[in-house]
Amino acid sequence: MNAAARVKVRIRCRHCGEKFVLRGRQDKERVETGFKQCLCNNQLDFDIEME
Ligand SMILES: [Zn+2]
Repeated sequence: MNAAARVKVRIRCRHCGEKFVLRGRQDKERVETGFKQCLCNNQLDFDIEME
């Protein structure tokens, strides 16, 4: 049983411009990446793109 799809997630911080590429698992509408915050302590303000 593997309902969660694996996705690649690109995250760009809107505060400092730092970019992260993570692998996540998509579960219905949520994507779980384990990403917590940027190096600049921003936790909320990101551009997120999924492949
Ligand atoms: Zn940042």
